[in-house]
Amino acid sequence: MSRYWSAVVHGLTPYVPGEQPKLDNFVKLNTNEHPYGPSPLALEAIRAVTGATLRLYPDPNAEALKAALAGYHGLRADQVFVGNGSDEVLAHAFLALLKQEQPLWFPDITYSFYPVYCGLYGIRSETVPLAGDYSIRTEDYLPGPGRRPGGIIFPNPNAPTGRLMPLADVERVVAANPEVVVVVDEAYVDFGGDSAIPLVDQYPNLLVVQTFSKSRSLAGLRVGFALGHPTLIEALERVKNSFNSYPLDRLAIAGAVASVQDEAHFQACRRKVMATRETLVTGLSGLGFEVLPSAANFIFVRHSTRDAAELALALRQRAIIVRHFRLPRIDQFLRITVGTDEQCSSLVDALAEILGS
Ligand code: PMP
Repeated sequence: MSRYWSAVVHGLTPYVPGEQPKLDNFVKLNTNEHPYGPSPLALEAIRAVTGATLRLYPDPNAEALKAALAGYHGLRADQVFVGNGSDEVLAHAFLALLKQEQPLWFPDITYSFYPVYCGLYGIRSETVPLAGDYSIRTEDYLPGPGRRPGGIIFPNPNAPTGRLMPLADVERVVAANPEVVVVVDEAYVDFGGDSAIPLVDQYPNLLVVQTFSKSRSLAGLRVGFALGHPTLIEALERVKNSFNSYPLDRLAIAGAVASVQDEAHFQACRRKVMATRETLVTGLSGLGFEVLPSAANFIFVRHSTRDAAELALALRQRAIIVRHFRLPRIDQFLRITVGTDEQCSSLVDALAEILGS
């Protein structure tokens, strides 16, 4: 607190990211990173960037990356927006599209950055409770008499639950709300969901947001993107160009373009994560954990008798980090990132030991 702060700063509740430990002797299963690393072609492209080009500003419009993403998803470049991680893309969407007179709707249990952006930009919001099985109830997002949102946002699969909304239900929500923008945050969709991208041409109120941080294993490069109708993209560009002209540096643009071009690496790595997830689910179910159905690169689990915070602490003492949220309704869950087979079996062995003791 300081008298020098702008008034708005006093009222902020900033997002708290998962721990990034300074030492690397941990089995780190707490921030949903991908265990296998990016495409070698991406690393090569980053290495090929020279001092002569780094001397110069990057392309403010990242046209090469927009063209690569448009080509990959069968869209035009004017339907693509890129930013410094999908967090930045989401932030711009909140300001550009979701700040309306009516409240923004999102689930009560979801990505905890959404209420933070609402606080930052002064956006009214209304949280919609998940069903008892922690799924998003599609019906709750259909407007009715006296119930109308100013916009809608949800992750699909949802975070931190991992639960997927079938694409037909996503379409129902988008089709039922033609007056407002529906943002589908698909950070984890490549691990088992059907993307809403094929609906973009049909629905001018749909914005799909994705990231290179998860399925493309480039969390450290900070690249995210949005796909939608050119007028939605224009709104994002207007905000971006009122904030930072060069959100993507030359290394990020080069690495991301090459990543999009390496389909074989992308497919092989995401399949491996999905296979490991199934083994992990079997292992933890065998130890008495309830595991919510996951279409993401993490699982959300609770034990029938043991306290989640105590389990997280006992794992940490064994150099394994998972994420525990001290939040209503989910404080008995642990969110566990799907790592390599070896990391996941270390986790299962450690939990077996903890539970046996
Ligand atoms: N959306 C969701 C649901 C997430 O969990 C995350 C990761 N914290 C993001 C968006 C942001 O990811 P990034 O900024 O790395 O693209």
